[in-house]
Amino acid sequence: MKLHEHQSKELFARYGIPTPKGKVAYDAETAREIAKQIGLPVVVKAQVLVGGRGKAGGVKLAKTADEVEEYAGVILGMQIKGLPVRKVLIDPAVSAQAEIYLGIVVDRAQGAPVMMASAAGGVEIEQVAQETPEKIKRETIDPVLGLQAYQARELGFGIGLDKKLVGEFAKIALALYRVFVDTDASLVEINPLFITTDGALIAADGKLVLDDSALDRHHDLEALRDADEENQAEREARTAGLSFVKLDGNIGCMVNGAGLAMATMDVIKFYGGEPANFLDIGGGAKADKVAAALRIILADPNVKAVLFNIFGGITRGDEVARGIVEALGQVKTNVPMVARIVGTNAEEGRRILADAHMQTAASLEEGAKLAVEIAKAN
Ligand code: GDP
Ligand code: MN
Repeated sequence: MKLHEHQSKELFARYGIPTPKGKVAYDAETAREIAKQIGLPVVVKAQVLVGGRGKAGGVKLAKTADEVEEYAGVILGMQIKGLPVRKVLIDPAVSAQAEIYLGIVVDRAQGAPVMMASAAGGVEIEQVAQETPEKIKRETIDPVLGLQAYQARELGFGIGLDKKLVGEFAKIALALYRVFVDTDASLVEINPLFITTDGALIAADGKLVLDDSALDRHHDLEALRDADEENQAEREARTAGLSFVKLDGNIGCMVNGAGLAMATMDVIKFYGGEPANFLDIGGGAKADKVAAALRIILADPNVKAVLFNIFGGITRGDEVARGIVEALGQVKTNVPMVARIVGTNAEEGRRILADAHMQTAASLEEGAKLAVEIAKAN
């Protein structure tokens, strides 16, 4: 789950990270009022859950109240990377002399969080990472010990900060690490962390991606979810209790178990196909849940075939088969489907599906090959 810039910065501020004190508006007139309250000049900033707003024209400096209203109107009518802008943040403008990048991600290869900093922050940070990666300094964080003050200072010196600023930079870095840990984030980012013309540091942008699997222990953060920003498939999957990730291929996958779902995708790829999604329907497979999963898969116009891969364990194969048949009654479709069921009561399950005129496969190999063939032919 991603937080908006204004939500991230409010959280950062609670941890003592300096941020501009702005306010959110849903219309241009309110934007104007806010700007008068906080004082001009201000920056008008699109609040959408994608990066690159600046380059897309979604961040504008406004010097007068009229400009605020004009820019807010324009930005509120924009789409950025396909997402409509529904609100703008009005922040007091910062007069800056430099833009620093500071972020933490989980590095899977090292099995640890890594803090990254660069003096070449701002809107071109992706380009910096590609073309001049030596300008990005890294510190691997021991997950048991946490970020150490000396590491934060080393990063500050590493990016060439003035000695006078390194202490303040380290304080911000340590606070950002506490945010990262406390919220179970998978990514936190400040870009830019401005060096103001007065020689202070302030976080002018904020990004926070939370680990969905940890949201159960962060109800306060989950309440910040912006339902407007979720796509329909994600929302339906979440409310139905399904783990769903959309992919770019054309073979829909419906599988009970995350590991089995990954294996299914691997086998599809092995036989030259491309999965359209990852979907774990979890334990139990009542018709309603299967139907919801099927609706989500079929809502994707790319899907040319669906492969069911079911392991009958505690949930018996015949129960799942009945769920599938019932779901097919609820969701009308012409997309061909292949089912492979093994485990408890698999034979009965296969018979139920065959009676419902569904193609069944005896093995995953056979099922995957069949689905790939069908998808290619369609
Ligand atoms: P992003 O493009 O989505 O990452 O949006 P940002 O919030 O990072 O804004 C993009 C750019 O706008 C920043 O890198 C700055 O160069 C500029 N910017 C944003 N706020 C201010 C501000 O208060 N003062 C100045 N001078 N520039 C700003
Ligand atoms: Mn930014």
